[in-house]
Amino acid sequence: MEKVKMTTPLVEMDGDEMTRILWKIIKEELIQPFVELKTEYYDLGLEYRNKTNDQVTIDAANATKKYKVAVKCATITPNAARMEEYHLKNMYKSPNGTIRSMLDGTVFRAPIVVKGIEPCVKNWKKPITLARHAYGDVYKNAEMIIPGPGKVELVYTAKDGTQTREPVHEFQGAGVVQGMHNLDASIESFARSCFSYALDTRQDLWFSTKDTISKKYDHTFKDIFQDIYEKEFQEAFEKAGITYFYTLIDDAVARVMKAEGGFIWACKNYDGDVMSDMVSSAFGSLAMMTSVLVSPHGYFEYEAAHGTVQRHYYKYLKGEETSTNSVATIFAWSGALRKRGELDENKALQEFADKLEKATVAVIEEGSMTKDLAMITMLENPKVLNSKEFILEIRKRLEA
Ligand code: NAP
Ligand code: MG
Repeated sequence: MEKVKMTTPLVEMDGDEMTRILWKIIKEELIQPFVELKTEYYDLGLEYRNKTNDQVTIDAANATKKYKVAVKCATITPNAARMEEYHLKNMYKSPNGTIRSMLDGTVFRAPIVVKGIEPCVKNWKKPITLARHAYGDVYKNAEMIIPGPGKVELVYTAKDGTQTREPVHEFQGAGVVQGMHNLDASIESFARSCFSYALDTRQDLWFSTKDTISKKYDHTFKDIFQDIYEKEFQEAFEKAGITYFYTLIDDAVARVMKAEGGFIWACKNYDGDVMSDMVSSAFGSLAMMTSVLVSPHGYFEYEAAHGTVQRHYYKYLKGEETSTNSVATIFAWSGALRKRGELDENKALQEFADKLEKATVAVIEEGSMTKDLAMITMLENPKVLNSKEFILEIRKRLEA
């Protein structure tokens, strides 16, 4: 069989722990036997991030700007325990945070729907795609512990030195305070990414904030979306027969539970973080969720929505058998290969991506799966495979 050729490399960002183990097997068993894989490799494993003082993460984001398509393995976000475990020089920031703030844009997360894994919410028939704003708010905040009585204010000093003040609170005792920001430019690109993605995938777009309480901050999000919709997208939406719908976040949550799915739900950064885990778990498993960062500049970064599956990795290190689900990581690869194929007008590469996804879904629908899915499937007598066996089963199907 002739291998599929590639013209432009993908940016490949390797990662940590169990997902790093899966990464290597996926490449060796599911990609390289079928594709003459071209990648520019960046090792975002914590050890190498430490060695380069995290420069490798910045280099990888810059490479994504150059080549436009990246695929990323899950990575450790260091905390105090990781500082000791890896003898880190610094508590480096989350690589996802660093990359997102360099590329800007929106993270779209959608469940991978397979027969036999039914959503907990019984009326959900089609996937719900979550669009998470990837800049600012609580992820770029300034916080203070207030030790005792005193006044807290917001102060804006304009370029000419004039100041505007807004009281936050007159503290009578100890407490906490937090300052957040966002940028019109980032909200605008968030809006454009969402409207474009809705048109691209022909799905309705919902957007929700808490503008009744946050009359300036959240209301700005609402106004910018409405303005861009009317000026740039309304006509195309009407032509495509899809709708844009704004509602309060609590109303959205209630409606989502009663809906049938098949739409995109745009959320601010924090709401998107929380709601995407809820939606994905309700659809079955965190490991059955795709995630792509779409930047308004035309960059795409594909990843899995879950973490490095640390608990399984420690079992693996002890030589014990693991049954870690590689579906989201496989779909990160297929998503990136398909997008590379689209940008390069490489049909064979796009078709390979389709085949890889079909083979993966078929293996599960025929009853072979990892333990996490076997525990929740409606299929009778599922065959539980270990981490590697599951990938080998997909390879068999691809070869057939
Ligand atoms: P996690 O890696 O997502 O795993 C949490 C639990 O969810 C696992 O222990 C496992 O449950 C289940 N799970 C997640 N993915 C699975 C898979 N593919 N197959 C089977 N089960 C799966 O989250 P975490 O343990 O909280 O975080 C571990 C590390 O990942 C942290 O250092 C964190 O910083 C990092 N992280 C990275 C990203 C990213 O790079 N995108 C995102 C989130 C977290 P059982 O143990 O019950 O089997
Ligand atoms: Mg999260």
